[in-house]
Amino acid sequence: MPAGTKSDVIGGDGNDDGYGDGVIIGLEVHVQLNKLRSKMFCSCSLDYHNAPPNTHTCPVCLGLPGSLPVLNKSAVQNAIKVAIALNCGILPQTQFYRKNYYYPDLPKGFQTTQYDYPISTDGHLTIDDDLGHGTRHVRINRVHMEEDPGRLVHEGSIDRSKFTLIDYNRAGVPLLEIVTEPDLRSPKEARRFLNKLRNIIEYLGVSDSDLDGALRVDANISLSGGARAEVKNISSFKGAERALSFEIVRQRNVLRRGDVVVQETRHFDELRGVTISLRTKETEHDYRYFPEPDLVPMMVIDWVPNIKKTLPELPDAQRERFLGEYGITGNHATSLTLNPKLAQFFEDVAHEIDPKTGASWIVDVLSGELHYRDLKIDAFKVSDMGEILRMFLDGVIAERGAITIIRTILDDGGTPAGIVSEKELAKVETDVVASAVDEVLAECGDAVVDYRGGEVKALNYLVGQVMKKTRGRADPPDARMRLLEKMG
Ligand code: ADP
Ligand code: ZN
Ligand code: MG
Repeated sequence: MPAGTKSDVIGGDGNDDGYGDGVIIGLEVHVQLNKLRSKMFCSCSLDYHNAPPNTHTCPVCLGLPGSLPVLNKSAVQNAIKVAIALNCGILPQTQFYRKNYYYPDLPKGFQTTQYDYPISTDGHLTIDDDLGHGTRHVRINRVHMEEDPGRLVHEGSIDRSKFTLIDYNRAGVPLLEIVTEPDLRSPKEARRFLNKLRNIIEYLGVSDSDLDGALRVDANISLSGGARAEVKNISSFKGAERALSFEIVRQRNVLRRGDVVVQETRHFDELRGVTISLRTKETEHDYRYFPEPDLVPMMVIDWVPNIKKTLPELPDAQRERFLGEYGITGNHATSLTLNPKLAQFFEDVAHEIDPKTGASWIVDVLSGELHYRDLKIDAFKVSDMGEILRMFLDGVIAERGAITIIRTILDDGGTPAGIVSEKELAKVETDVVASAVDEVLAECGDAVVDYRGGEVKALNYLVGQVMKKTRGRADPPDARMRLLEKMG
């Protein structure tokens, strides 16, 4: 029976991985090394995001005849950092090649990239699998260096544009291509892998993933041993997951009809949520790769020990340390190590107050309030968090009061102490509650009689009266307890 027929689908792919439908996914991820001062082979600045088009260019990145590339050493060092973090080995000798093709985003007529001597190969990254009971080991085939092409802006959609604009500010931005083996088994796993990769890259400080186009994904997917489709240039991780889910349905339908999936390059239309065919896949010899004669081979393996020493603690290791050192929960440790700045914020707070309380308030309250306002952790001061939590732990303010202070600081600014007095958030002293209870019992004789007669609701009424007298600053359970004591 030919591959890709209906019974093939029912039979699965023979992978005993629990999914049974033979979904195979491999990713090629492009990461801009955009935290450097200059481009890959020239001194044009990378700070072009708010600049007019084509203002960050020079003869080298425009590919003018006679111009010569000079390799950016820091870009190589950052590439090595990523390679080490992804458990890859650095090759003793590595080299740039010319990948020849004509496309308007490529002014030189070739892309300077790597081919059979990439800077590093054979790594891996482990993620939680989709079945909820294990991990998936995703092999990394290679991490190689290349330059970003310019940016094409198609007026209208890619298949129906009236004209196209070109911005060469992006041409020559240092880029890493990270290629996985086809080890992923579902769109969700692919997204989890991408999140983890982004997390590591943020910890390494080599790329600001918030910048437009900093991370782009080509997602390869096949079903039941059939040919694979490659969905090119997806600009968000959510987009990658959606494109892959769409492909599963599309390829399944092709197989159900008794047709064969063809190997091709497809485009993901974010708005419509569909992939469309662009071209049948080009093969390697179409590109006429040859070694870049203007750049010598590099021998950088001796750099590795020193670069290793400069690596920050990575998220997995930090998570383990948080568990041991601070005794916080696994969920809190996971959430805190999703972002290096958040993790640092937590550690600073943990030096001021009880770490478990700190972790819980940062993850369960502060993060949500920030997210809701589209703010980052930089919007909040460690000292303010420390002060709020100290007042809460000392019983000066109630939980609601602490939340009010956080919201007020984010919306209007101010200091914790100032907001406590301005909004009268301090819990009232015990004798004030005690006398409010006495007054209420004296004034509401009827309710007391009702309660003694078995009407439980009357107690709620009395608690309400105490809250009213203290203008909401008594603690309701405390008021209830005092009322019960007095009524015998
Ligand atoms: P090419 O040379 O055509 O780019 P590669 O072998 O470099 O092919 O693989 C490119 C990407 O395709 C890799 O991420 C790899 O994991 C993925 N891939 C390879 N085979 C399959 C497959 N059968 N199904 C899905 N993805 C695949
Ligand atoms: Zn330039
Ligand atoms: Mg490839």
